[in-house]
Amino acid sequence: MSTGRPAIRLCHLYPDHLNIYADRGNIAVFRRRLEWRGLSLEVAEVGLGDSIPADCHLYYLGGGQDRDQMLVAENLAQKADPLRGAAEDGAVVLGVCGGYQLLGHGYTAADGRRMPGIGLLDLETTAGDRRLIGDVVLDVTLNGQTRKVVGYENHAGRTHLGGGCTPLGHLRRGHGNNGEDGCEGAVATRIVGTYLHGPLLPKNPWLADVLLGWALDHAGGPVDLELLDDNFEEVAHAVAATRAGQKR
Ligand code: GLN
Repeated sequence: MSTGRPAIRLCHLYPDHLNIYADRGNIAVFRRRLEWRGLSLEVAEVGLGDSIPADCHLYYLGGGQDRDQMLVAENLAQKADPLRGAAEDGAVVLGVCGGYQLLGHGYTAADGRRMPGIGLLDLETTAGDRRLIGDVVLDVTLNGQTRKVVGYENHAGRTHLGGGCTPLGHLRRGHGNNGEDGCEGAVATRIVGTYLHGPLLPKNPWLADVLLGWALDHAGGPVDLELLDDNFEEVAHAVAATRAGQKR
């Protein structure tokens, strides 16, 4: 049930270009989990010709092919200041795959072209000669709780973290950031990046609620999110974990 009362303002960056793996599914999860609690989501879609609003509680940047990523990278780098300011003030930022790479310092594609990132996360990405593809399971600790997060990855980029952020999680299955160090994703305060898509949040309601809790806190609203019946989501989580060779 929705009261129609705006609770969270979400900025969806480049929905027409960075949406390769059903990224709108992640937005739908944010919306429904708020509505089930009588809250609502307002979405501002920002494309190449739009400026980025500074007053959103949650910013979302999805995944894309190198070609689309190249198209938005310069554009984003030129106008990212309101996003940087909002993140500094405590807004939540979620970047998935190509979007994750653009939250870092930059991405060097397989043909040697470099795309600028916006430096919100202290990390650097360079394409390798083989794509890293498959099911992923990782242990994620946020807000003092550790949970298994499941998903799917498909990327050429090898991401290496600097000292300014920590891995989002530690792998049980999958290649993660670079196929070498056992880590997946990155987090710094409320800025989160991950290679998991397909999309990420329908199978990981706990993670969705952590992000929503932070966004509500930034919005000055309630942070005790009432528990929902997540039976379907837990089944989806279990199927993904089993497919990756991990029990729940
Ligand atoms: N182009 C990037 C890579 O291959 C991101 C791909 C994606 O978003 N799926 O590493």
